[in-house]
Amino acid sequence: MAKRVINFYAGPAGLPLPALERARAEMLDFENTGMSVMEISHRAKEYDAVHNEAIALVKELLNVPDNYKVLFLQGGGNMQFAMLPMNILHSGRKADYIVTGSWAKKAYKEAVIVAGDNARCIASTESEKFCRLPRPEEIKLNPDAAYVHFCTNNTIYGTQWKTFPETGGIPLVADMSSDMMWRPFDVKPFGFIYAGAQKNLGPSGLVLALIRDDFLEMCSDKLPTMLRYKIHAEKNSLFNTPPCFSIYILRNVLAYNKQLGGLGVIHENNLKKAELLYGCIDKHAGFYKPWVTVKEDRSTMNVDFFLPTEELTAKFIAEAKQNGMVGLKGYRDLGGIRVSMYNAVTVPQIETLVSFMEEFIRRNG
Ligand SMILES: *Cc1c(COP(=O)(O)O)cnc(C)c1O
Repeated sequence: MAKRVINFYAGPAGLPLPALERARAEMLDFENTGMSVMEISHRAKEYDAVHNEAIALVKELLNVPDNYKVLFLQGGGNMQFAMLPMNILHSGRKADYIVTGSWAKKAYKEAVIVAGDNARCIASTESEKFCRLPRPEEIKLNPDAAYVHFCTNNTIYGTQWKTFPETGGIPLVADMSSDMMWRPFDVKPFGFIYAGAQKNLGPSGLVLALIRDDFLEMCSDKLPTMLRYKIHAEKNSLFNTPPCFSIYILRNVLAYNKQLGGLGVIHENNLKKAELLYGCIDKHAGFYKPWVTVKEDRSTMNVDFFLPTEELTAKFIAEAKQNGMVGLKGYRDLGGIRVSMYNAVTVPQIETLVSFMEEFIRRNG
């Protein structure tokens, strides 16, 4: 048996063990082909089945209506920061951006590179170092926006939108890289959703995207071919060689999600995990000081908190590692501790972390 750690990395992050075990079992001989899935032509029927099963699982798990296309794209979340405005913000179109963290700000900056003043920041909590989300009355929507972009989970600062911004019918666009499929949600208000796979879905580099037909219609035909959403939609994400192995791993993760009982069960687990960890933090608020000030805004995926001193922080990280828990060091600009507990992190693993935190405070509090 391989010795596995409890993985709290923010991304790439841990994947469900059964999804990896399946990949190991199928590595040398994928379904009696005598090849690994990496070695099969992307035009062969064996790969095609994996590709289409992955798409079908996305649709099933999220209950995606027929007027959406599921896309597999490359270049990570960052590529979508640029590809989205390139496709949509032509012919003088404008868009609104809500800036709630480093990734949301990067998305906005790329849109400004593409569209200049036509990309508008309509709300930001940067002056408060992104320790909360903007309240509805702080968001000043423009009625002429082609979309409103936001980031559902702010991976670095640990805030998460539990209810989505109200836009009065303007399509929402979301970067869901760090909380895609943490629960079921209604995709219908969204024109476009994208998620880098390496937090909740699979390997880095791969992006899962959903695009609504009317939004697809708005996309530019004048871009280089690889950058056009329309081409990827027409070709079922097989315009060029897709990242076959990454899509295969995503298929394994989603098949496992389905086997668990779907996103409803995953949601319940995630709520339990959040209750356990925030419960411990709140109980010892004088010792474990949370970064996010507004409780409703707290992320169920990434939890930032601070210990009283740098020395204690270093000791916490080192002792956690001795106890088989890795990836707890806070983001470089923020310091402290960050616990990333994506779907693959189990309730018992959070129980282990919380016992460690209780024990740590008994010895050091
Ligand atoms: C990790 C992350 C990204 C970056 O994705 P890359 O694949 O590294 O480009 C973008 N947005 C959010 C919210 C993230 O958490």
